[in-house]
Amino acid sequence: MSAVRGRYAPSPTGPLHLGNARTALLAWLDVRARGGAFVMRVEDVDFTRARPEFEARLLLDLRWLGLDWDEGPDVGGPFGPYRQSERGDRYAAALARLDVYACTCTRRELRALPVTSMTGEPVYPGTCRNGQSHPGRPAAIRWRVPAGEVGFVDRLCGEHHQDIVRDVGDFVLRRGDGAWAYQLAVVVDDADMGVTDIVRGADLLDSTPRQLHLLRALHPELPAPRFAHVPLILGAGGAKLSKRDGAPDLGALREAGAPPARVLAALARSVGLVPPDVREVRPHELLTAVQADDPLARLKPQPLDLAGL
Ligand code: GLU
Repeated sequence: MSAVRGRYAPSPTGPLHLGNARTALLAWLDVRARGGAFVMRVEDVDFTRARPEFEARLLLDLRWLGLDWDEGPDVGGPFGPYRQSERGDRYAAALARLDVYACTCTRRELRALPVTSMTGEPVYPGTCRNGQSHPGRPAAIRWRVPAGEVGFVDRLCGEHHQDIVRDVGDFVLRRGDGAWAYQLAVVVDDADMGVTDIVRGADLLDSTPRQLHLLRALHPELPAPRFAHVPLILGAGGAKLSKRDGAPDLGALREAGAPPARVLAALARSVGLVPPDVREVRPHELLTAVQADDPLARLKPQPLDLAGL
């Protein structure tokens, strides 16, 4: 097995926007620059939102951009299946090893809870810890979170600490409709797949302590992966790129006939990987440019410039 194993873990719930494509590029570069193995894992646990056609399209779009992977739903590999919808038995086995309880709080009750500034979400007050509040309703499964602060040093964001009991509370591992929670699935899969390096969007920074807490409970013998939470992509005004900026998704650019080397150059420029005058670049050229260096060490986020595509 390669020493370095990284992954990209898209949720096929819509078209792949350019922010996701840039995160995929950075995860790929980080692994390839060190000769590691790159895993494509499709995070389709939320069966109410995931669709096979989005999966097919995002894999096509990423290949068109020039990325490749050693393991994934379309190429197989020793740690499959690589689609979370096919890994339910693993999540069930993990759940069976944790101290959990059924929660029948309604969505309305949960929405009424005050939100904490730490995560932007409410802290679950433990309403169903000692018995369900509405027996007979479909129950979510929550983890009775053990006490303890969790800290880690992110490669880009530095030190990050959370006290899960205080800042999050007992969190959901399986929803009332039976869908496995992202937090559980991601920990089980990264451990099973031997992932050593996680590069993903900064919006997931606050989830990491929960995942490390779960990892410690499920696999105390495993070292924690290294994390790099990369900046979210900026629109023309310098604020986070949003639909209002009118940026096309990656598939739309492909279908409109944009040359992939130009799209890759725009993504690379938007994070300072190439100088502002570079209009076209291929993945292996980017790799040569960053080789012998840490590709994530000097990211300089700037507004995405799609002129000339
Ligand atoms: N599936 C998640 C997303 O698309 C990413 C999960 C991860 O990288 O840990 O936002």
